[in-house]
Amino acid sequence: MPGFEIFGEQERKEVMEVLETGVLFRYGFEGARNGHWKAKTFEKKLCELTKAKYAHLCSSGTAALSTALASCGIGAGDEVIVPPFTFVATFEAVLLAGAIPVFAEIDETLCLDPAKLQDALSPKTRAVIPVHMCGSMAQIDKIKNFCDSNNLILIEDACQSVGATFNKKAIGTFGDMGCFSFDAVKTITCGEGGAVITNSSELYDRASQYADHGHDHLGGADRGADDHPIIGTNYRISELNAAVGVAQLAKLSHILETQRKNKKTIKDAMEKIGNVTFRHIPDPNGDSATFLSFFLPDERRAREVIKSLKDNGVDGSFYWYDNNWHYIRHWHHLKEMKRAAKLPLELICSEHKVNGYDYSNISLLQSDSIMSRTISMQIKLSWSEADIEDRIKKIKNALSC
Ligand SMILES: *Cc1c(COP(=O)(O)O)cnc(C)c1O
Repeated sequence: MPGFEIFGEQERKEVMEVLETGVLFRYGFEGARNGHWKAKTFEKKLCELTKAKYAHLCSSGTAALSTALASCGIGAGDEVIVPPFTFVATFEAVLLAGAIPVFAEIDETLCLDPAKLQDALSPKTRAVIPVHMCGSMAQIDKIKNFCDSNNLILIEDACQSVGATFNKKAIGTFGDMGCFSFDAVKTITCGEGGAVITNSSELYDRASQYADHGHDHLGGADRGADDHPIIGTNYRISELNAAVGVAQLAKLSHILETQRKNKKTIKDAMEKIGNVTFRHIPDPNGDSATFLSFFLPDERRAREVIKSLKDNGVDGSFYWYDNNWHYIRHWHHLKEMKRAAKLPLELICSEHKVNGYDYSNISLLQSDSIMSRTISMQIKLSWSEADIEDRIKKIKNALSC
């Protein structure tokens, strides 16, 4: 997922344009900014890419998730169904909203299993947040059907999958809102940044208000004349970060094309080697191809292979089952509800139990079974053909262990 691999002249040019005006703020200062509106430009381009009607940039993907939750009216005591394979930000945003993350099983898409959502449903469930992990997608059509038939809000965490599509429709546009991250290691980066997209003008207005202290942005050149229809916070992006994003977004189609080509070469070779099966990708044509994920027959074999990949120098290989940040197994802080201060949901929570939901005792056998057999390999942009050939040789060696 490495936009940082192809930093260059364009990023410098966009940033310099901002530095030369001295206007680092995304709103106002019309006279001084010399026509440069980097955040606005990025939002417009993101709408063109995703065909969403509205986009609002935030200071991070985590801020985008919080903004989406608030905009959709998710708050104290509401239950939100989330997957156990994600980045910690997904459940953090739910907890900080005062809501209750409820974990449901993933399937071989490595995303929420639509057939298991029912098990996590309760009268308090208000929303589902599928996470489109590692550049690919959930069975988002089925998840949307589930949400529609149960009257639930759908917020897509597409932080890892900008540019991915399902049946030609952009990931992030199936839900009421979609969230992206442009942090330092994502497909395209702003340094730090994120975005929400939506087709609803009401949700967009709420998002742009919430992420900017409630400003309705109707006061014209005088920010002080804006009204504040809701209490908000500051999740604004700076023009400097947005400027980097403008340059990176222009490179996205090149990034996707390169990743898809590199991934295909390696996957074709691995299919010939055999002994592995691949992650189920609901629409292979829409895969953004940041990772190649595959399954071994069991945990013991997966552990052998991940060690062998490392021994053979196949860098960028991940065994998420042991990872501290991406799989629930090592989220001790969540299981023990270790927090800096009382959370908004403290009113209804005791120790590690929230509303009777016991975080210290979550059993997700199907997810454990899948993740314990899964290995993902990062796909890089900078590989030459010789690099890829060399890599395939190393993978062959590693898999014959
Ligand atoms: C990166 C990421 C986030 C958070 O994004 P930041 O910009 O780092 O705050 C949220 N969800 C997932 C799945 C991510 O990978």
